[in-house]
Amino acid sequence: MKRKLLIIEDDEQIVEAVSLAFQIRWREAEIISTRYGKKGVELVASEQPDVVVLDLGLPDTSGFDVLREIRRFSDVPIIIVTVRAEEADIIKGLEWGADDYIIKPFRQMELVARIKAQTRRPGQTEQEELASGPLHLNSTTGQLIRDNKKIDLTVTESKILGHLMRNAGHVVTHSSIAEAVWGDDYPAAAETLRVHIRRLREKIERDPSNPEFVVTRPGVGYLLSSQ
Ligand code: CA
Repeated sequence: MKRKLLIIEDDEQIVEAVSLAFQIRWREAEIISTRYGKKGVELVASEQPDVVVLDLGLPDTSGFDVLREIRRFSDVPIIIVTVRAEEADIIKGLEWGADDYIIKPFRQMELVARIKAQTRRPGQTEQEELASGPLHLNSTTGQLIRDNKKIDLTVTESKILGHLMRNAGHVVTHSSIAEAVWGDDYPAAAETLRVHIRRLREKIERDPSNPEFVVTRPGVGYLLSSQ
């Protein structure tokens, strides 16, 4: 099936690098790009892309505003690509509705793997219902139920939690999670996971600062405590 990728990015070298990586690895992809945020929002509406790669520093508007605008009418997966490595920015991006983020400079294949991970849609994978204690996850739709409460997870969060649930009670390493989520381990995976886990805890834990489900094993990985 043909996939459409929209790149909202003013650095032509990045647009070229991403396009090239896609032409080599994912021939069937159609790539559209713009250097302007406002135009990017219009293109999401008119072109209905399957995934959006969004830069935060754009000439006409902030990438955060673009993100907010897009989220008003679309739940398309959005991956932020940015030089801003500060955790506060990353958290803000995820809170405002981005599905993933990647910090420049990045390896082309890492980006391709992560974009591909975001475009695996329901129907392509086997339906799977996971349960652990009070957590019930449909790993295909990303819908989680905890104590009769519905919680919506992003694609990435659902993959991370699904992997932890399949291994409940056992420590899961950073690289094992990275492989389950992005199909590949890469140097910054542990850092990236830390932010996603923090966001995941805010959604699923009763007290995110004192997690009862997703427990950190410093320097190793995470563990979903078996209830
Ligand atoms: Ca830029």
